[in-house]
Amino acid sequence: MLPAPIILVGKTLGELENLLLTWGEPRYRGEQIAHWLYGQIVDDVGSMSNIPGILRTRLAEETVLHPARVETVRHSVDGTRKYLLSLGDEALIETVYIPEISRTTVCISTQVGCGMGCTFCATGLGGLTRNLTSGEIVDQILQVALDVGALPSNVVFMGMGEPLANYEQLLKAIAIINAPWGLDIGIRHLTISTCGVVPGIRRLGKEGLGLTLAVSLHAADDEKRSQIMPINNIYSIGELMGSLQGYVKDTSRRVTIEYALMADFNDSMADARNLVGLLEGLLCHVNLIPINPVQGGPHTKPRDSQVEKFLGALKRSGLAVSIRKERGQDIAAACGQLRGQWEAE
Ligand code: SAH
Ligand code: SF4
Repeated sequence: MLPAPIILVGKTLGELENLLLTWGEPRYRGEQIAHWLYGQIVDDVGSMSNIPGILRTRLAEETVLHPARVETVRHSVDGTRKYLLSLGDEALIETVYIPEISRTTVCISTQVGCGMGCTFCATGLGGLTRNLTSGEIVDQILQVALDVGALPSNVVFMGMGEPLANYEQLLKAIAIINAPWGLDIGIRHLTISTCGVVPGIRRLGKEGLGLTLAVSLHAADDEKRSQIMPINNIYSIGELMGSLQGYVKDTSRRVTIEYALMADFNDSMADARNLVGLLEGLLCHVNLIPINPVQGGPHTKPRDSQVEKFLGALKRSGLAVSIRKERGQDIAAACGQLRGQWEAE
């Protein structure tokens, strides 16, 4: 049986150099290949024009450049594109491209599925299949860049899965995304969203990376939060807030609090007061997201007037708050929706 091919995307510069050294090649070939993979974003070895033919032949025989393949792309009227990617084991993940006037953002997945079981989330309903490798995480950005012709200015880890439940591969992917020899996207242009894995938040704060941390809070008291987010039974809101204060102290960065508004569940004026009280003294920005109801799920979207009332209450209290714009509504761009439709077809 032939040995499994070596997958190049997902390797650090040091790993590429080591591979080339074990092949008896000079170390600098590693940097040249990193440049073709992450800077020029080629999708075949033949394009690596400064690599000698004999080495290109070996690369073509023994390696694969990209671990992901685009299965389908859906284009929204607002410019958003949603990709369904397939991986080596035929697992499916989603990636979303969101162009705006001043920036372009790619929203990437970190796991196939998710084991966190949030009741409002399409990804959570299917459970966890497996973690993504660093290559599968990074390749989502490269596949989009191959399609749209340029790397994005921003990357958000808000697709399928819980980033902090895949910590090692997440950090390796961030290193490749951020490095000058890699995708060279500034660390301040990266946002990680977590459901509240407290040890991961503490660890991330200590890495001294300066990326933006977004936390899916969605309820300001333990009873309500535990009803919709099982992680709250492991790490309470009090522990979560403690870890966020620690993150702000360690990084001097403002955290983002995500609050998905669900009709008659967490959208009352009492809920708004609870939220204001909880966030007092935390350096944060609140992002309100009217829930995108999942089929058969228990939660529905509040009326616009209720969203405005909730927003007003937060603003009057002095909190920095905004409403997340809904993008790609016509192509089911919300978390987990495209895969769900694909599998049902
Ligand atoms: N697991 C991480 C990141 C992926 S989910 C997390 O939970 O933060 C990205 C964001 O989408 C989270 O804020 C999550 O709460 C939110 N989300 C999930 N399902 C949603 C839905 N149906 N409507 C609105 N937001 C949703
Ligand atoms: Fe997982 Fe995030 Fe969905 Fe919760 S909201 S199930 S943590 S992907």
